[in-house]
Amino acid sequence: MIVADQKPLAEIAASLAGFSRVLVLGCGGCVTVCRAGGDAEAHDLARDLTHPQHYTDGAQAPEFTVATIERQCENDLLKAFLTLPPDTDAILSMACGVGVQMVADVFDPLPVLPALSTTFMGGADEPGHWREKCKGCGDCLLTLTAGICPIATCAKSLLNGPCGGSQGGFCEVGTENPCAWTRIYVRLEKQGRLDLLDEFRAPRDWRPAGFAGPRQRQRKGVL
Ligand code: SF4
Ligand code: SF4
Repeated sequence: MIVADQKPLAEIAASLAGFSRVLVLGCGGCVTVCRAGGDAEAHDLARDLTHPQHYTDGAQAPEFTVATIERQCENDLLKAFLTLPPDTDAILSMACGVGVQMVADVFDPLPVLPALSTTFMGGADEPGHWREKCKGCGDCLLTLTAGICPIATCAKSLLNGPCGGSQGGFCEVGTENPCAWTRIYVRLEKQGRLDLLDEFRAPRDWRPAGFAGPRQRQRKGVL
């Protein structure tokens, strides 16, 4: 899932300068699960943003309304289920960066502002604790790396083994993180597949990772 964090309140309040009627829009998808931008957080944020401490030099808090939609990342859901309250002059989206952009496209040219910063695609190793697992590289190599992604979980995204700085199984960069290549080696050893490390992997073509512009995918059978 996509993990996101709420921006500092002062930064959000500053982004609302000059607007008088703001819709705080929660999203029922990933950001609800990680408790960053769901319906409860949307109500909490609208309440917190009314506090005068966030507004100086005679500025006043906008009037807030709150709504939540099942997913902000789908054009048809936004069009079918979201009606803006009268005189809304800005939307504060609590979705990931995808949702913010979809809302901005649907309600163009209404200003749509992000309340969150999208951080990573991750899995919950324990309830409420997500770790980054995938960078959406477009050419998955987990077959060769025992189901452990060296692009997302090695600090240097190395493809041909460890950098040499691994200390006691931990990464030399983020020392609280296990070294991805130590994990890969240990798991491949348990699987009896260490031979997979013999083959040199040439530098990658990063275009499928998004370096040739935004990627698209059309579901089969959809015209
Ligand atoms: S190899 Fe690419 S697609 Fe596979 S998990 Fe890593 S980043 Fe994601
Ligand atoms: S110590 Fe391991 S995880 Fe850290 S950068 Fe080096 S190879 Fe990657």
